[in-house]
Amino acid sequence: MPPLPIRYRSWPACVGLAICVIVGTTRASTAIPDPAAFLAQTDNARTSDHPRFMRMLAQLHREAPRLSPAEQWHLRYLDAWQTGYQGDYTKADVQLRAVAEHSGDATLAARASAMRLLGLGFTRRYEEAFALAERLATDLPNIKDPLARFQVLINLSQSMLLADKRDLALKYARMVEGKLPPGETLCSPRTLQITIRYDSPQLTSSSPEFHQAIETCRAAGQPVYVETLHLVMVEAYLREKRPSKALAFLDRIEPGIKSNGFYAHMESAAIFRAKALFALGRLAGARTAALTALSLNNPNEISEANRDIYEVLYKAEKKLGDTAATLSYFERYALQDKGYLDDVSARALAYQTVQQHLLTGKLETERLSKQNAVLRLQQALDAKAVETSRLYILLLLLLVASIASWLYRLKRSQLRFKRLSHHDGLTGIFNHQHFIGEAARLLQAMKKKTEHACLIFIDLDYFKQVNDTHGHAMGDAVLKQTVAICQQELRPADLFGRLGGEEFGILLAGCSRHLGMDIANRIRVAIGATPMGHDDCVITISASVGLASTEVSGHDLQRLCMEADMALYRAKGSGRNRVVAHAGTGDLFNESTPAPGPSLHSGATSRGVAEFE
Ligand code: GH3
Ligand code: MG
Ligand code: MG
Repeated sequence: MPPLPIRYRSWPACVGLAICVIVGTTRASTAIPDPAAFLAQTDNARTSDHPRFMRMLAQLHREAPRLSPAEQWHLRYLDAWQTGYQGDYTKADVQLRAVAEHSGDATLAARASAMRLLGLGFTRRYEEAFALAERLATDLPNIKDPLARFQVLINLSQSMLLADKRDLALKYARMVEGKLPPGETLCSPRTLQITIRYDSPQLTSSSPEFHQAIETCRAAGQPVYVETLHLVMVEAYLREKRPSKALAFLDRIEPGIKSNGFYAHMESAAIFRAKALFALGRLAGARTAALTALSLNNPNEISEANRDIYEVLYKAEKKLGDTAATLSYFERYALQDKGYLDDVSARALAYQTVQQHLLTGKLETERLSKQNAVLRLQQALDAKAVETSRLYILLLLLLVASIASWLYRLKRSQLRFKRLSHHDGLTGIFNHQHFIGEAARLLQAMKKKTEHACLIFIDLDYFKQVNDTHGHAMGDAVLKQTVAICQQELRPADLFGRLGGEEFGILLAGCSRHLGMDIANRIRVAIGATPMGHDDCVITISASVGLASTEVSGHDLQRLCMEADMALYRAKGSGRNRVVAHAGTGDLFNESTPAPGPSLHSGATSRGVAEFE
């Protein structure tokens, strides 16, 4: 990991040291047998043994063509780290961003982003830094690799320190302690915690955590961190108005600082020395120390360090009585102070801007998700409405279909009942009642048209004997065949009905008495001439017929019925198998020639001739 910040800049001071070491120590080396392991070792050497790191990096570059794509990305990450270490944060940011976005390695990406955080801070790209910090903080639960998580947490902590969010900075620094990567110690998180709290009234030079942290880092073999802690300790002495103690302590630690050559530490040490000497009234010494600190620095760059240096310088010159120098340093101090305060405000503003953006984004997301929820609900409702209307349509169709089917069945059964109520069950012709009704209607129509009609009553002769001799089924068959024979002689306009038993009625429409007699006789002859029954039993049967005509009796049905019945009775009485017509007043009847007696025998046909008198 990069050197920890103290209040003054960290990386820039390291640059010179790093380059010096590279120049002096780079040497040829043999091929790398295990590049992955070698890369891991190089990674580990970054801060613990930077010169070795540089040698290994150079060796890796020589072996670069033989590295796998993943290993090459790791090398690019180390290069980027080194670029940042050398102080070229803008270039480092481009390199780190490439690793973060294109390496396809989540762990390396997290580490690169963590590094970017620091660089963006150093280059004062605060908004980008804090936005990235937010993204990393959100992504923190997904960063599983211990080293990546460690680096992200440390750098998040430092970013929050930059935003002056000490609580958050401390929170991240403490989170580091939860899960240390292999080889790491409590040294860095503890040092970080101390630097975050450097000006806290609770943190005094005698605070036990101070000494514990120093011991931890010393035990971990981390001299740079020990020096950081020592310098914070010096600052604590100064804050406690113990400049002699601060000076004595500085004298003790400065050889170590010089030998490590960490630029930021050397600068801090010089500034603290200047402050201590000034506090002790050793003005010339203070001025010299301040100028030394300035020489380690870009004197025109706005920084907290330069502000403190110019403050010591102008105050020392004032006391020394050099008005011109005092004024000159004071002007620079005022410039630095304003610049520094502007920078602090810029950081605070950037942090607030990022938070505002996040809040706006969050609100927008919430609004959109609410809108989406409403839309989804609307769609669901629409779908339900469509479904419901489909269901209604289906139900309606079912209802219509069942009503139609019910109506159809009703109509059918009505028709069946109607047919049953109008027709004779055995022969299928009109039953008595219907025949009479229809006959009355037809007669009325005939009357209106002044057309004539004949009413014929037919009664089978000795039919009872058929039943008695051949059985009821035979009787039924004879009845049906008789009906069929009659129908052959009838026209569509004629009415035909079964009046009961073996008695039938026919109303011949538009028919003269003469023609009626003719038809009646034809029927009688046909009945008598047709063998009836079935295959193994054939019989012949005769019929007696009574006829009444409107020509004689008028169109009154009742009268016609009575007269046809009388004629039939006469036909029966005069020997059967004949047609008798009612003839009106005087001689009441005309009848056909009597037939030769009733015949009821198998295979024989009886014949009778109808004649009018
Ligand atoms: P007649 O020559 O004087 O008319 O003598 P008949 O035997 O034909 O007359 P009768 O009135 O004595 O007998 C009619 C018979 O018709 C009585 C009954 O058994 C029979 N009959 C009535 N309806 C049916 C029927 O639907 N089927 C059968 N097979 N017989 C029937
Ligand atoms: Mg009868
Ligand atoms: Mg009869």
